[in-house]
Amino acid sequence: MAERIIYLDHAATTPLDQRVLAAMLPYLNEQPGNPSSIHQLGRAALHALDDARAAVALVLGCARKEIVFTGGGSESDNLAIKGVALAQRQRGRGNHIITSAIEHDAVLHAVEYLEQFGFTSTQLPVNAAGLVHPDDLRAALRPDTILVSVMYANNEVGTIQPIAELGAICRERGIPFHSDAVQAAGLLPLDVERLNVDLLTLTGHKFYGPKGSGLLYVRHGTPLLPQINGGGQERRRRAGTENVPGIVGLATALTLAEEQRASMVPHLTKLRDHLIDGVLTTIPRSWLNGDREQRLANNVNLGFACIESESLLLLLDQQGICASSGSACSSGALEPSHVLTAMGLSADAANGSLRFSLGHATQAEEIAHVVAILGPLIERLRAVVTC
Ligand SMILES: *Cc1c(COP(=O)(O)O)cnc(C)c1O
Repeated sequence: MAERIIYLDHAATTPLDQRVLAAMLPYLNEQPGNPSSIHQLGRAALHALDDARAAVALVLGCARKEIVFTGGGSESDNLAIKGVALAQRQRGRGNHIITSAIEHDAVLHAVEYLEQFGFTSTQLPVNAAGLVHPDDLRAALRPDTILVSVMYANNEVGTIQPIAELGAICRERGIPFHSDAVQAAGLLPLDVERLNVDLLTLTGHKFYGPKGSGLLYVRHGTPLLPQINGGGQERRRRAGTENVPGIVGLATALTLAEEQRASMVPHLTKLRDHLIDGVLTTIPRSWLNGDREQRLANNVNLGFACIESESLLLLLDQQGICASSGSACSSGALEPSHVLTAMGLSADAANGSLRFSLGHATQAEEIAHVVAILGPLIERLRAVVTC
């Protein structure tokens, strides 16, 4: 392994912030209480839970009771999709769910799962930059549509969707609107009023918090059936003893992410643009995937003709550079990314694409090093193929 690691895979996961770890430690050590216990250790845990909920509600601009703590982003997506769909069906509202073609698998597979039980779905198309058009949502709505789910920002190409506009369309018709905002935390505003969302998914480990801690914002009055049954935790919306250290960590990390957002976004944008421009101007037959403007400050997704990105990833890894092809969950499977193919890329172009996602600790020198090293590596790979 190389001496120095250059970690450019923050869209897959982020390192734990030391201040977050410090906030969590008491609840892993001297404060082991269960928030449901009435003794003093239980009360201390409940207090920590209340404080965490208040901190999160402040960032989202919502009421504390509208926050459901979960075991992560996938669980929150599943709770939103299945919980709303089943509650809506119970009320006789219908069976039709709308998502986009570039959602995370946690959304797409939750919908597919429901299709076995008689639900139907429509996937909104995206343009070449990965953007959903509000007119396509209007056209897809049906009298029996019971839920719309469109992600805030895409994990592969960083495209930022017009969430407030999509949400307004749903609200006019009284249809619950969910957004997977996992990639947006710390980079985009999360005010649920401005976003016009009824449900919003976040997960701690994408913004320097712990893995296995997530949340679902659920607007008051939104129909939702619990998907984990048991005790009465989280106002009967998610049973199970609360992950107190994880929740404290999540809340601390979200507060820090929001505090740092205004200074971090311009910093990351500059580094991002150095990487994009550095590659596009020095490497022939390279291109940028995703929208140049409506793009997360930390996302760089580049394509290279005549390249298998898996091979390039291995060469980069030998140099200590951590990047990703497609999403972390599906790499290893050699199928082209469903996101890139939905944007109109051929299977070859999709398989020649690579994601670099920057983070708080990313240095300008690291970006310069990656730009310098990529050209020769790509030349090496292209030298042994004919295309
Ligand atoms: C990482 C990610 C998830 C899954 O979150 P986990 O906490 O890993 O389950 C869901 N949606 C998006 C957009 C993600 O990037």
